[in-house]
Amino acid sequence: QAKGNGRDTVRFFDPVMQAAVDERMALEKALRQALQGGELSLYYQPQVDRAGHCIGAEALLRWHRPKHGSIAPSAFIPVAEETGLILPIGRWVLEAACAQLKAWAGDPETRDLQLAVNVSARQFYQPDFVAEVQAILANSGANPTRLKLELTESIVLEQTEIVIERMQALRALGVSFSMDDFGTGYSSLSYLKRLPLEQLKIDKSFVQDISTDPNDAAIVQAILAMSHSLGLMVIAEGVETPEQQAFLLAHGCDAFQGYLFGRPVAIENWITTHDTSVKQVIAPAGWHTPKR
Ligand code: C2E
Ligand code: MG
Ligand code: MG
Ligand code: MG
Repeated sequence: QAKGNGRDTVRFFDPVMQAAVDERMALEKALRQALQGGELSLYYQPQVDRAGHCIGAEALLRWHRPKHGSIAPSAFIPVAEETGLILPIGRWVLEAACAQLKAWAGDPETRDLQLAVNVSARQFYQPDFVAEVQAILANSGANPTRLKLELTESIVLEQTEIVIERMQALRALGVSFSMDDFGTGYSSLSYLKRLPLEQLKIDKSFVQDISTDPNDAAIVQAILAMSHSLGLMVIAEGVETPEQQAFLLAHGCDAFQGYLFGRPVAIENWITTHDTSVKQVIAPAGWHTPKR
């Protein structure tokens, strides 16, 4: 209790902290209702290959909160993770993504698109995660080879053996994996060759200053060279300028995602975005072809 007047008393009550706690509890309650109330949706951001063709999308969660507007994932995903709400939310994301894959499968224009879905650590570590993904794939009728799960380095470092086992089980179903935000975590290069990964995703913080900061340029070049010698595909995220893309192309980057090609959009806007935003680029001669 608050008793902050005596010299030797400790103050337990801090109004600022209390306000933060209240706000968080309100957010948690609202998030709980958001799932039932249909306030969550997926946005889709195009991913393009070296020739500028759209090869897929990343599904990004959006929360349209009545009277609050759109809330960024950075503001609510951490709360969802701490409260465990990420489990039902993550399941909903997978269901929505698989339903979209199924819809895309009906059109020759879109049936080869891959859809990347972010998976949080808590979600990946729930004991029945593999069974859950399998059931969602089966119920939706989506082609598992079109589903790509994005993991972060923090997931992998915790319990590497369990992670490898689960990844292999999902790989056996046809699902593939990308290492998101690569380079920002406590990267251990040794695990890279042990994980059944298909792709590394270079974090946007390295891409941002690629044409002005020699250190970032060197890091990106090293990531590309290492990934390719391990047979991994590389996608760069946060590509905003033609200069960034040119650098990445020159060093063999396989795929690109960023505002230069299109912002994340609601599915109603997907076709237009994907048609107008994908720019034709010419790959320089002798670019690297990954081994698998
Ligand atoms: P992420 O997976 O690394 O996603 C990429 C983020 O970069 C997205 O932010 C995207 O909108 C943003 N972005 C894309 N292109 C550009 C660009 O050219 N420049 C800049 N500055 N940013 C760009 P968003 O949508 O706010 O998502 C933030 C993070 O929230 C994601 O980072 C991911 O970690 C998490 N997240 C989003 N959706 C989900 C989800 O369904 N489940 C889980 N567990 N996490 C999610
Ligand atoms: Mg991601
Ligand atoms: Mg990322
Ligand atoms: Mg990121």
